[in-house]
Amino acid sequence: MKKIIVLILLAGWGRLPAEPAWQFEDYFIDQTLRIDYDHTGTALQDIYAFDEAYLEPYWAGSRTHLIDTLDLGAYLFTVQDHPTRTLLYSRGFCSIFGEWRTTEEARTRSRSFSESLRFPMPKREVRITIHARDRNNRFQEVWSLDLDPSAPEIIRTDFFRDVTVRTLMHHGPSDKKVDLLILPDGYTGHEIKKFIGDAKRMTRILFDTSPFREHKTDFNVRVIEAPSADSGIDDPAKGVYRDNILSSSFNSFGSDRYILSYDNKTIRKLASRAPYDFLYILVNSEKYGGGGIFNLYATCIPDNLWSDYIFVHEFGHLFAGLGDEYYTSDVAYAEFYPRDVEPWEPNITALLDPDALKWKSLVDPDTPIPTPWDKSVFDSANAAYQRQRLEIPAGSRRDSLGLAHQRWIHEFNRTRPYWGRVGAFEGSGYASEGLYRPSIDCRMFSRSQTGFDPVCTRAIIRVIRFYTGSR
Ligand SMILES: [Zn+2]
Repeated sequence: MKKIIVLILLAGWGRLPAEPAWQFEDYFIDQTLRIDYDHTGTALQDIYAFDEAYLEPYWAGSRTHLIDTLDLGAYLFTVQDHPTRTLLYSRGFCSIFGEWRTTEEARTRSRSFSESLRFPMPKREVRITIHARDRNNRFQEVWSLDLDPSAPEIIRTDFFRDVTVRTLMHHGPSDKKVDLLILPDGYTGHEIKKFIGDAKRMTRILFDTSPFREHKTDFNVRVIEAPSADSGIDDPAKGVYRDNILSSSFNSFGSDRYILSYDNKTIRKLASRAPYDFLYILVNSEKYGGGGIFNLYATCIPDNLWSDYIFVHEFGHLFAGLGDEYYTSDVAYAEFYPRDVEPWEPNITALLDPDALKWKSLVDPDTPIPTPWDKSVFDSANAAYQRQRLEIPAGSRRDSLGLAHQRWIHEFNRTRPYWGRVGAFEGSGYASEGLYRPSIDCRMFSRSQTGFDPVCTRAIIRVIRFYTGSR
């Protein structure tokens, strides 16, 4: 407990980072050390076990903003110089295990997931510590590992040497830019050209959306051409299984549209061919689906009616730790956010203390908190839509119904008195009651192609500034 307090003081949580009194070169070289470990357990208990360490060829992150000041993520890892205990690096993140443990399955059996920590290659021995948020969302130390960078156990192999890395957008050196890397899954050798086209189109859509549009020159975008043996990805609920390079699959956690890959090691080995801060997996499918986990990766399909929406929405999860503001679709989680604790996500509040609302500085004084929005009218229209939807098989008729419903949502929201204002609108984080979102509509709330609201926009810009080393 004492140690955590010291770390927090050193890191200066909540404030802009004080420049450390030391230089990157004092402690690090310009490559990445990756620690793979297994995170195993159930809903109630979990353990961490060291797996392997790898030296990766590129360090893409900042050389000045090394200590995380964003306070995002369900987990945080810190890297300390072992002899002096100087805090050298920290980063918040989320994990598949962290989501899985909230599912029904985690109550009945244990599972194991491979996870990775990446940081610049240290010059001398370091202590790596994982902190997990406790029930009150305070970080507690849960596991640590001492590692000497000269140890022979650090694997120094270049993997996937034959693949081609292609740059789609270059605006400057990696340490001063956000480096986005897009990986293909389920594209055969013949389809790799299509992958490049899909990645270009999705990138264009992202940078047509504010605030990415205004910060386009803060990003580099690269793709890796890595074919799969089979076209498409697993769809276990339909009995479809493919030999796809990254093993992405529909129906993760039993949710049909949720696309994840549990093959962390192959993803990391392939990604190590290029410098990256953030990973996006583009999945060759027309079926609706996607996923996004803060600081892990996002997934999206390029060929669905809703691809534009999904690509940008999932990037919001991956990049800025934004939470889902919707509450009307089925999800696999049972009470994802406990009602008596303020979520760490920048765009969801339990409104436990309205005077201390975390986005209060963006609220006009005459906007009531909570903010009225005719929720019951919205809810009954939505219930009618969900009933109709279930009666129609997937296909063009269901698509038209979906589009009509989204148009209705947009029109309804647009004509409410507090449209365009920041407030606290009830219904968010998969919960109809007790959780609130900042705006009546947002890219994290509906598919009505609305942009990010001011709170999400501010959260995204904070992350961009952190990664580009600007203030
Ligand atoms: Zn989402």
